[in-house]
Amino acid sequence: MQATKIGKYLIERVIESERPYAPALDFFPALTAEMLNICKKEFEPGQLTQDGRLEMSFTAFVIKTGRHNIMVDTCCGEDKERPLRPAFHKMKTNFIPALAQARLKPEDIDFVMCTHLHWDHVGWNTRLVNGVWTPTFPNAKYIMSKTEFDHWDGVYRSGEKNTHTQAFEDSVDPIIRANQAVLVKDDFELEQGISIEPCPGHTPGNFVINVRSENQTGVLTGDVMHHQIQLRYPEMSTVADDDQNLSRISRMALIEKHADTGNLIFPAHFPSPTVGMIQTNPTGGFRFKGPQQ
Ligand SMILES: [Zn+2]
Repeated sequence: MQATKIGKYLIERVIESERPYAPALDFFPALTAEMLNICKKEFEPGQLTQDGRLEMSFTAFVIKTGRHNIMVDTCCGEDKERPLRPAFHKMKTNFIPALAQARLKPEDIDFVMCTHLHWDHVGWNTRLVNGVWTPTFPNAKYIMSKTEFDHWDGVYRSGEKNTHTQAFEDSVDPIIRANQAVLVKDDFELEQGISIEPCPGHTPGNFVINVRSENQTGVLTGDVMHHQIQLRYPEMSTVADDDQNLSRISRMALIEKHADTGNLIFPAHFPSPTVGMIQTNPTGGFRFKGPQQ
């Protein structure tokens, strides 16, 4: 698998899975059948199934800076109790072999950055060792937004039971207890050119990660966009967004900021080739183009 260069930094993809996911019309409440047909006509193959489901991936990225290996998000994880998400319940995945393809072992990871604390972004934060949820990356500090942590800590303490609070219990709390978490403010910069930028709406403390080196820019956008449909129709929020209105405002601003700049975006759920640029689309909205096009 080809790594992507941003100046002197390398960004590797670590794909946990790629599969058809929810029907587009269910996932995007404001999407019409007519809009979906336009997307089917305009998109490259591999984005939508014949019956209108979203092709999606669960992808983590590793930024190799030469000084550090920085993992961004950790997908769904293995052996996790997810009874409300039967397809993911006690799932086994190829995440560690996929990491090995990027020539990395868990102990090589120096930092894990969590764009937000949803269950499908924190799963491999921990793994089961002798019945105990244990940090997967023993040498890593895990960077989380303080706003985001405080939000989910509050939801968890309220006693609410859902997949996100389950993930908080088995994939976030053990990191805190192992003293491997670092809760950061909105202006946090990890290393020269690698900084976070708040992009709230999907969750309260959601952030994107900007990577800048030698006049090149990459943006790891997490779940600000889930699918190319949100480039063609940037106003389209998802059922997975905590605040659909704020998510729309943040997403549209991010798309406008990077469109037609040549900056590369690295979304968490776009299917292969996953990495590309945002261009103005001649028939409306924006489109996604791989870096070679
Ligand atoms: Zn997600």
